Amino acid sequence: MIENKRLTFAIISHPDAGKTTMTEKLLLFGGAIHAAGAVKSGKTARKTVSDFMEMEKNRGISISTSVMGFDYRDRKVNILDTPGHADFSEDTYRTLTAVDSTLMVIDSVKGVEERTRKLCEICRMRKTPIITFVNKFDREGKEPVELLDEIEAELNVTVCPMSWPVGQGKAFKGVYSLYEKRLILFSAHGVQEDQDVFEISDLNSDELNQRIGDSEAQKLREELDLITQVYPQFDHDLYISGELTPVFFGSAINNFGIRELLDCFVDIAPGPGEFEAEDRTVRPDEKPFTGFVFKIHANLDPRHRDRIAFMRIVSGEFEKNHTYTHVRTGKGFKTANPTAFMAQSRNVVDTAVPGDIIGLHDTGTFKIGDTLTEGEKIQFKGIPSFAPQIFRTVVNKDPLKDKQFKKGLDQLAEEGVVQIFTKVVTKQKLIGVVGALQLDVIQHRLLNEYKATCIFEPVDFQTACWIHAPEKAVLDKFVAENQNKIALDVRGQLIYLAPSRWMLDRTVEDYAGLKYYFTSDLK
Ligand code: GDP
Repeated sequence: MIENKRLTFAIISHPDAGKTTMTEKLLLFGGAIHAAGAVKSGKTARKTVSDFMEMEKNRGISISTSVMGFDYRDRKVNILDTPGHADFSEDTYRTLTAVDSTLMVIDSVKGVEERTRKLCEICRMRKTPIITFVNKFDREGKEPVELLDEIEAELNVTVCPMSWPVGQGKAFKGVYSLYEKRLILFSAHGVQEDQDVFEISDLNSDELNQRIGDSEAQKLREELDLITQVYPQFDHDLYISGELTPVFFGSAINNFGIRELLDCFVDIAPGPGEFEAEDRTVRPDEKPFTGFVFKIHANLDPRHRDRIAFMRIVSGEFEKNHTYTHVRTGKGFKTANPTAFMAQSRNVVDTAVPGDIIGLHDTGTFKIGDTLTEGEKIQFKGIPSFAPQIFRTVVNKDPLKDKQFKKGLDQLAEEGVVQIFTKVVTKQKLIGVVGALQLDVIQHRLLNEYKATCIFEPVDFQTACWIHAPEKAVLDKFVAENQNKIALDVRGQLIYLAPSRWMLDRTVEDYAGLKYYFTSDLK
């Protein structure tokens, strides 16, 4: 069998650390784009919802920014884009379920930041390999050792420096690549030239002194001596299990250190891995086709209410015009135009293999987490919804548009923009979101795409968790005693709504036989 050389990954970072810049430089190396400025930033620096929607629309039109594919050396690389705004972090978490590894970008001035911490936690939970790039070394930032210590302590991962900076900020001279045994000199011209790279395998060689000066050369030797004693050698198995992260230093905006990172990345990053399903583990080399939907992107043009469902291929080969089983409904699904994504274009493909992401034109068939197979009833695990922090009732203000209102809300729920809950006793419907900006998006999209005007009314819940009990009697007792706080989600799973975190914690103590989950993936 031919080895599958797909490299499917996502970049994780805190906003402003340099994700967009990094993506662009990687695409430039891959020859996928030819000029800077081609990658649109997912940032919402502008504050109003219509600015945000306008930006999403632009991104929707150039939907290829959701997945950017290119060839590099012998690998087909797929970068999966993740939304920059924290209020849409659910989207990012789900994208992480579709990748085989991640690239973490850290700002050397700010160090480990909040979103990086959260995203890294998910990677650690899922045992996803992480390669780290410490960015902005052209600025006066934290010391490299301090940064490594911070990464190790805060992200609970062993660090293994693969390059080492010479100077920093104004005095930044370059990096020594421990991986390739080369010195790469920094010149802030945005292009890294071959003449800036010197093979120096023997650190005691005089060439080092000639290139960076006697005192810097001496300092570098001492530092390298120290770090090789303090930090472990690169261990591929530990990297693959997510326990060790190789670390590179550089400056994305100056295109510095990116090629070294990319070259190492394509050497060490894993190909398509296996995926856990409810009943068994599905391996990429299995012949029958399987895949799951991890993201649905609405076409934000109100005249075309179609959507693109993004599917990760897990096993087998997907063929166009072949009828597969849509496991949730048991119906057949066939498409004549599955789409693959290159950096700036999308093309209809005939086939797709594990590691590939394809776009399926969708008129309402798919929900997030849906599976296509050749008949086997497979449900992949770990494609979560997150317990919302914000709850509202939604009131339709225009009775004549009731149908559109309901349809719109259902569709937004299928896309994962909102979660809908039905209280078990009163049958009252509530919506739940993770971030406040999502509420604005719901209102805006209901109006613009469905012509439905709605308002939100507050409810007395601030947090929630899914509940589960091995014994039915325990669950029944809990439901009976907390009726007004229990609702069902769209999958029919029970969720407990609490007025405060404190109340939730007390309930957890009071009902020992129950299990509580903050993601809907009840395992
Ligand atoms: P994102 O929010 O993570 O996508 O970050 P961007 O890629 O948009 O970068 C945020 C800001 O940092 C932009 O103004 C970039 O020009 C700047 N930036 C990115 N990389 C570097 C770098 O290596 N050095 C410096 N000084 N600035 C950088």
